[in-house]
Amino acid sequence: VRPDLAGDEFGPEIGAGHEEGPAPMVAIVGRPNVGKSTLVNRILGRREAVVEDVPGVTRDRVAYDANWGGRRFTVVDTGGWLPDAVGLAAAIAEQARLAVELADAVVFVVDATVGATDVDEAVVEILRRSGKPVVLAANKVDDTAAEADAATLWGLGIGEPWPVSALHGRGSGDLLDAILDSLPEEAPPEDYGAESGLRRVALVGRPNVGKSSLLNKLAREQRAVVHDVAGTTRDPVDELIELGGKTWRFVDTAGIRRRHRENQGADFYATLRTRSALERSEVAVVLVDAGDPLAEQDLRIVSMVVEAGRGLVLAFNKWDLLDEERRHYLEREIDRQLHHVRWAPRVNVSAKTGRHVEKLVPALETALESWGSRVPTAKLNAFFAELVASHPHPVRSGKQPKVLFATQASVRPPRFVLFTSGFLEEGYRRFIERRLREEFGFAGSPIDITMKIRE
Ligand code: GDP
Ligand code: GDP
Repeated sequence: VRPDLAGDEFGPEIGAGHEEGPAPMVAIVGRPNVGKSTLVNRILGRREAVVEDVPGVTRDRVAYDANWGGRRFTVVDTGGWLPDAVGLAAAIAEQARLAVELADAVVFVVDATVGATDVDEAVVEILRRSGKPVVLAANKVDDTAAEADAATLWGLGIGEPWPVSALHGRGSGDLLDAILDSLPEEAPPEDYGAESGLRRVALVGRPNVGKSSLLNKLAREQRAVVHDVAGTTRDPVDELIELGGKTWRFVDTAGIRRRHRENQGADFYATLRTRSALERSEVAVVLVDAGDPLAEQDLRIVSMVVEAGRGLVLAFNKWDLLDEERRHYLEREIDRQLHHVRWAPRVNVSAKTGRHVEKLVPALETALESWGSRVPTAKLNAFFAELVASHPHPVRSGKQPKVLFATQASVRPPRFVLFTSGFLEEGYRRFIERRLREEFGFAGSPIDITMKIRE
């Protein structure tokens, strides 16, 4: 009987604007029938999720967001991914290697009523060599009498066997505590403007596009003069500006205002300043002079934002100067030259007249929300299972690489790691990014996709 794991979700949904770091990964490894799936359900606290032998139900969901004592982690049921290896011993070894590669900690499940088998011994070898923390779960210890069986598993030489009954729950709290104790310390969340809670915006663009004019306009538009916000140590190179009912920290504005004094090597300094502003920001407004043809330098600044992994808003300034013909050509230039960032929100403004400058606010908010959003692991894997089935990678020299498993490793910006059975070609990776964006959005944020190939 193979329980099916219907994964619903813990944790924030995409678009909730919630931000957090990556959750540590815990992989469950063991021979068939030792109770791995039952244990996963126990960890998730959803007994009702166990479905007995439903024909046609494939286990395409293999990873789940879990929570114990307020700590988040991701449980990966490696039994759900049937490796290509032939034979039980090879398959289990493969599963263990994968788990070790992927996870921050491994739970090795042994059936205590059976005791350690040769296959179990072989897995122990792999786990021990990896140096990853291993928690030994001695399963099917349904009562006190069976505890003696668990004790024999000390003989495996990987530390204390935790007696547990995945089926009835006995001992599962202690096992979960042991699992969490084995995980590395959680990294503290990155401190983006956290001291003040203000979002950091970089206003960037080549000289003369209207940065200081826009800054002046925004500063004048605000309803009240922004005084120092409580708890803020005001950095004199930044400017606090209230827009749309919120106070924003525009970083390195002193550089924008000072520019006229720097003549020599202006380009070099401008690039340095842009880089340092991006470094300190969460989201960038790239200001472009809509009256001029898009310049190489505009495109370079857009690329700098994407490479820095910051949110991106495109603002086309001097809209008051545009006639119909110029608007027509501008659209064509955007189509051709900014195609790769067509996900960025766009606003057409005039720093001179104030036209649409208020539209910067929803654009910034969209970009920041996307930048910090996370796709729940089960949802992501359901998406890839569907994608791989409906749009498989083209066959190349008799092989067809597949996405086996995916996880979002981090936010700010969203970064995805795909575990694949071979090299995914460029076109297919672009297709994946396009489909990810269609499905989950990410307007205004770059996303990063890396592959881990299992040979
Ligand atoms: P997997 O193949 O390792 O995922 O194992 P399953 O979770 O599918 O469990 C295999 C069988 O063992 C099922 O019939 C379960 O009901 C049973 N089982 C799992 N955990 C326990 C337990 O703690 N005690 C007992 N008595 N049976 C269990
Ligand atoms: P910066 O170098 O990017 O800071 O650009 P400035 O703000 O100094 O602007 C460069 C020139 O463009 C100045 O002469 C501004 O008056 C002019 N300018 C800025 N924004 C607009 C606009 O929206 N419309 C028009 N017509 N001129 C603008």
